[in-house]
Amino acid sequence: MKKKLSALFLAVIFVLSLCSCDYSFSDTQSDIIPEQSENAPLSVHFIDVGQGDSILLESNGEFVLVDAGESDYGSTVVNYIKSQNADTLKYVIATHPHSDHCGGLTKVINKLGCENFITVETDQSTKTWTNVLKAVDKADANYIDAKVGETYSFGESSFEIMAPLSDNYEGYNNYSVVIKATYKDTSFLLMGDAEKQSEKEMLKAKEDISADVIKLGHHGSSSSSSKEFLKAVNPDYAVISCGKDNDYGHPHKETIQTLSKLSIPYFETDIDGTIVACSNGTDIKFYTERNGEIATNPTVNETKTQTADNYIGNKNSKVFHTPDCSGAKTMSEKNKVTFSSREEAESEGYKPCKQCNP
Ligand SMILES: [Zn+2]
Ligand SMILES: [Zn+2]
Repeated sequence: MKKKLSALFLAVIFVLSLCSCDYSFSDTQSDIIPEQSENAPLSVHFIDVGQGDSILLESNGEFVLVDAGESDYGSTVVNYIKSQNADTLKYVIATHPHSDHCGGLTKVINKLGCENFITVETDQSTKTWTNVLKAVDKADANYIDAKVGETYSFGESSFEIMAPLSDNYEGYNNYSVVIKATYKDTSFLLMGDAEKQSEKEMLKAKEDISADVIKLGHHGSSSSSSKEFLKAVNPDYAVISCGKDNDYGHPHKETIQTLSKLSIPYFETDIDGTIVACSNGTDIKFYTERNGEIATNPTVNETKTQTADNYIGNKNSKVFHTPDCSGAKTMSEKNKVTFSSREEAESEGYKPCKQCNP
């Protein structure tokens, strides 16, 4: 709670002193900028690219770009990066070759260049993907095949490759290059579209996946973000990158329920717009853009959490109920267990109540 209050307070300061975002300021406001930027040696920008991902990391003037949304968003990402005064991108990471991640990269690399390009080898051969590779070639970038455990530095920060741990998956999402970016005591786990299979592998490999902030896999889809994985990451905040009214129903309600069950507040680009997290090495402050304005009050989306605990199970009888079923209302507290979905209850061996038919 303390963190949230200070986030509120800092948001007001932030409006006056926004260091590194593409907004205009009056002269008096821009005077405050240098102090603020010195306080955030690592900033992570979750750029609003509709239904897709694009994340820009900056540490002491060095930049890393993870994905760039669909091709249509190439210019949006280029302009955003330019607004941060980036001369060049030290690392560009294409998490996987789906167009909602790599589409915009061609324009970004053609316009801004790229020193090092990190991705994972797949058999993808779409035009969108081959265009990215052509741009990498043209930029004369150093091509790096992502290897788990490798670390790279930018400014005073660094990132480590956490996944993929296998070299053969069905579909491209699990091939996603997952990175953990760290500055001093703070860290960000960026999942790309990695799904539960990749999460399982990371858990099994006993990697240190703990992080203060997680960018959830696959736009908040229920194919990612298992409870076990989120528990192990144990983040203070989650970020979901997805488009308004997208065709996939992202973020899925199962994911939101898992977050609320674990009391993890979250941000969504479809609601909050571009989201910026600034780390001073111990604390992380969030700032969001909404409706074309900087929010004075970064909304941590906890309002939806009321839908949590949709089902209540009885540890003795191994039967689960809807919360308004008499079977749930009369249950003694010590026998109670809550589930966010039917699947979760059933996977733990609970049977639906015949009376309320949950
Ligand atoms: Zn994907
Ligand atoms: Zn995606």
